[in-house]
Amino acid sequence: MSADSRAGRPGAAGRVLVIEDDLAVIRVVERSLRAAGFETLAALEGKEGIALAQSRQPDLVLCDIGLPGLDGHGVLQCLRQDEATRDIPFIFLTGSIAHDDVRLGMRLGADDYLTKPFMPKDLVEAVQARLARRRQITEGMQSKLAAMMGRLDLPTAASGARGDVGLPDRRQLEADVAADWRQRRSEASPLIAGVVRALDVDRNDARLGHVALESLQQQVEERIAAAAAAHGVACRAARLVGFGRFGVVFPPGVQLAAATAAMQALLQTLRSAYWLQGGEVFVQFSAGVAAGAAPVRDDASLRENLTQVLLQAETASRPAPGEARQSVGVFRDGMRAGPVENLRLDADLHHAVERGQLHVVYQPQVELASDVVLGFEALVRWQHPEFGTVSPAHFIPLAEQNGTILRIGEWVLWESCRQVADWLRRGFPVGRVAVNVSAVQMQEADVPELVRAALAAHALDPCRLQLEITESAVLHDLARAKAMIRDVRELGVSVAIDDFGTGQSSLAYLQQLKFDELKIDRSFIQGVERHSDRIAIVELILNLAEKLGFTVTAEGIENEVTRDLLTSRRCQLGQGYHFARPMSVEAVAAVMSGRRPGMLLTAADLARAARGGEAATRSGGALPPRDASAG
Ligand code: C2E
Ligand code: MG
Ligand code: MG
Repeated sequence: MSADSRAGRPGAAGRVLVIEDDLAVIRVVERSLRAAGFETLAALEGKEGIALAQSRQPDLVLCDIGLPGLDGHGVLQCLRQDEATRDIPFIFLTGSIAHDDVRLGMRLGADDYLTKPFMPKDLVEAVQARLARRRQITEGMQSKLAAMMGRLDLPTAASGARGDVGLPDRRQLEADVAADWRQRRSEASPLIAGVVRALDVDRNDARLGHVALESLQQQVEERIAAAAAAHGVACRAARLVGFGRFGVVFPPGVQLAAATAAMQALLQTLRSAYWLQGGEVFVQFSAGVAAGAAPVRDDASLRENLTQVLLQAETASRPAPGEARQSVGVFRDGMRAGPVENLRLDADLHHAVERGQLHVVYQPQVELASDVVLGFEALVRWQHPEFGTVSPAHFIPLAEQNGTILRIGEWVLWESCRQVADWLRRGFPVGRVAVNVSAVQMQEADVPELVRAALAAHALDPCRLQLEITESAVLHDLARAKAMIRDVRELGVSVAIDDFGTGQSSLAYLQQLKFDELKIDRSFIQGVERHSDRIAIVELILNLAEKLGFTVTAEGIENEVTRDLLTSRRCQLGQGYHFARPMSVEAVAAVMSGRRPGMLLTAADLARAARGGEAATRSGGALPPRDASAG
């Protein structure tokens, strides 16, 4: 593809770095190149330009010779000495061409000269010509490599051992790195490692098949091995566990900035086309780099260090959700080492209940028409001694994976029943409590029996309890869900379908189930007033609810406008930060205290309490909760 034909998308023609101390020249260069589809970066000084070249990896550098401080020749020399920037095409911008300058420039590796003032057309042509030449060279190399790899794609070669051409494994890496560091025992420099990961592994698996994948892995390993070798023998690379994960460990004494630049160059190499099954294949990679804090003393602590730093590099390689990252992520202290953390959390979850690290908070549910608090949703919290409060959104999925959700879910049910029974005995008009039940509990536990036992143990009226089951859990095993819901309701406990709107949102299956309440997910409700399509769906759900006889709760009401809209559409219940955040047991007690017996709690009381005022109450007598929940 020529640079011209790529010029449609801004930046599609390539990225050019301009190092020039004259702002007017920068403006002209930028305008000309952008019009031709290039992305531009600019630096006013040599050192700044070098840093930009290392971090942003331009396709070409345009540089003035007479810069203040480090001049153009110095810049070129630095770029050519660094592996990460060594091959970037380099064009000098100069007022007049002196022969000594040209000789020096050529010796240092300049590709071309442009004299100022220049015509925009000449500038663009010079840049395009350089980039075209560079493409020719890399494509030539790639097709040679491809021809070689094509031969390796034969089933016999692919099924053979690949250890001879590929990277060593993790164990070998540890041994190699230990050997490197033994020689430098006295040095206290940090251990620096990078990780590259192939993204979309499942998709590649599906589109390429096994044999091609094997060949791809091999090509990737070849490129990494070549990059590591180019960086000096002491730079170690290895295959990590799982497909498409590789570690690179830098030799003692390398700085983090240099390692980052080297990883960036590697990333670029890995993202260019692979030759597979007679065609080009592109694979997305992400990369991260980290510097281990502790100096290495002996082999055992080195192994520990290495594990830690590789995990940190891997953490840094993961872009935030929704972020499309092109550059290498650098591990920062505040970043939680995802895999390490999850490993720890996974282990610690097994003891969370016995160690008393769990507690429950309670979020009020308000009847929209009357403003009365009809109940509370019980939400579990985990106070981890090291990580602090861990969100259930994080640890519940882990607990579902490792099975501890059975124990945790049982505890939450038990504790919530105990708490509400206690509040009722103290005369607090708390209505009912809603407890979340996980899909795993539904599959593997005898939920109706657990419920029966918890109610009996705390002498709690069944109408004071509601179970929340997510829509996806119901759909996962409709028959089982139906049976469980039936048994639980026979005990006199009500059932709500939770998070409606996040899964299939199928109104059709709702008709097959007998349940009491439907909770519309907060992602649907937040700012609903700004989306006419969502309003229409909410209206549809409310109409259906009226026909089928279930109550609707809107989750995630965050402001008055949303509340008013839902109230006007006759949605019965609401929950959300507009009324109250999940409250501690102490906070609930504080709101309740001081009220006269027989008075109901209202949203206004919650608001007053949140402002630090006294919790007033409203008369009306304690409602039988089942009636109350029916709105
Ligand atoms: P959920 O059952 O849908 O609970 C509602 C979540 O929405 C809670 O998050 C609550 O704090 C949050 N929320 C409430 N109002 C608002 C609002 O106005 N705006 C926003 N942005 N958020 C609001 P939380 O406590 O982090 O719980 C997350 C999820 O974890 C729960 O979603 C539930 O699925 C699960 N979970 C919590 N406790 C338990 C439990 O004991 N067992 C099981 N199986 N799952 C639980
Ligand atoms: Mg819930
Ligand atoms: Mg929910």
